Amino acid sequence: MPEKVNIRFLGAAGTVTGSKFLLETPWMNILIDCGLFQGLKELRELNWKPFPFPPKNIDLVLLTHGHLDHTGYLPKLVKGGFTREILGTSPTLAIAEIILTDSAKIQQEDAKRANEEHYSIHEPALPLYNEEDVEETVKLFKSVKTDEWMEASEKVKFRFLRNGHILGATFIELDINGKIFVFSGDIGRKSDTLLEAPRKPGHADFLFMESTYGDRIHPEEDVDEILDSCITNTIENNGTLIIPSFAVERLQTLMYRIYLLYQKNKDLTIPVYIDSPMGNEVLKVFSSFMSWHKLNTEEFKKMKRFFRIITQYKDTWKVIDDPQPKVVIAGSGMVTGGRILTYLRFHLKDPNTTILLVGFQAEGTRGRQLQEGVADVKIFGNYYEVKAAVKNINSLSAHADQHELLDWLIDLDNNPNRIFLIHGEKKASDVLRVKIKDRYGWHAEIPHLGDTITVEV
Ligand SMILES: [Zn+2]
Repeated sequence: MPEKVNIRFLGAAGTVTGSKFLLETPWMNILIDCGLFQGLKELRELNWKPFPFPPKNIDLVLLTHGHLDHTGYLPKLVKGGFTREILGTSPTLAIAEIILTDSAKIQQEDAKRANEEHYSIHEPALPLYNEEDVEETVKLFKSVKTDEWMEASEKVKFRFLRNGHILGATFIELDINGKIFVFSGDIGRKSDTLLEAPRKPGHADFLFMESTYGDRIHPEEDVDEILDSCITNTIENNGTLIIPSFAVERLQTLMYRIYLLYQKNKDLTIPVYIDSPMGNEVLKVFSSFMSWHKLNTEEFKKMKRFFRIITQYKDTWKVIDDPQPKVVIAGSGMVTGGRILTYLRFHLKDPNTTILLVGFQAEGTRGRQLQEGVADVKIFGNYYEVKAAVKNINSLSAHADQHELLDWLIDLDNNPNRIFLIHGEKKASDVLRVKIKDRYGWHAEIPHLGDTITVEV
């Protein structure tokens, strides 16, 4: 007798953030990823809505990787009554802990500032969760090995396979009563600076596939040349090059590329500051899990010594006050929070500043606004005029582009019963849907946020 599985699309459906997919099976309820909604206000507000399923009835959480949009709701889930295990690879859990702690801090600081400056419509403004909630969450973390099938119950097995997106990132296969469910997580690049190419699934009855760049091909741009010209211009203008960067992976990639660039071009002499407390923590994870990336120990140490790494916030001010030309890499990558905001408040109005945006900027973020050339940007309730030049690097993404997404399906030995395109803005998912039809003849669908789809296993 076939049994029924309800698939509930609780996030990253019709949008990029908030990844949460609940599988209600007759044997257990499994949540794949537990991400925070980010970007547009109407999305962020979803984080505050009651969870649409009792957290205490979830038996297991599996994490594809550590990014906030895949893990950032976990403390809220735990606060809501979830008490069971949260599984991921060791680097994923290490990164998740760093990201969640940072997220709690940012939310606490934002709430505090909003209360002091009275710009929130909520009085008092509250954080979604705090650092103690994160500590409770981390207690539930349990690391898993990759490539090995593990049994959650007699009818439910799962395994994690590397997919080259960030350190520790995987896709997840579940065998539920003999049917294979594949959750792609975020798929990485074929030739990444730091990571091995993604593994590919061999079989899928139900496929859940990310589509962030479903409508785009990463440009064939010369990243080193762009970095070189931005740094050279900054030296000539006596200016400041500000690179907002994700603390995870992107920062380490930029560090390695810039380090190599300075070895090659001796005209590059200005200091490069890394101002990302979270990025520093992630660097430690890179040194703890050397087998998960391509750098060897010696190279890694040399690279680290090259940069001026800021730890204390008071030193951020010293860097801002220093009139010398410089490069600053600071979080967050989409300019939604973190120390980058402090730099931008002072440097946005300076025409000798260049802001180099690296990678995807989601709708509703300041990064997207800068990319679109807005005249001013709102930070902590005030507007700041944008006189700085804004440049982009688009090819240094941790996400597969359309070609790489399509190639990821190439090893499948069957036509999946259902293909769900998730984790994409509607247009991106739709373009990928058409491409999958053209190339493989398979019908893919784009679920809506909140949909429940029942399948038989
Ligand atoms: Zn990700």
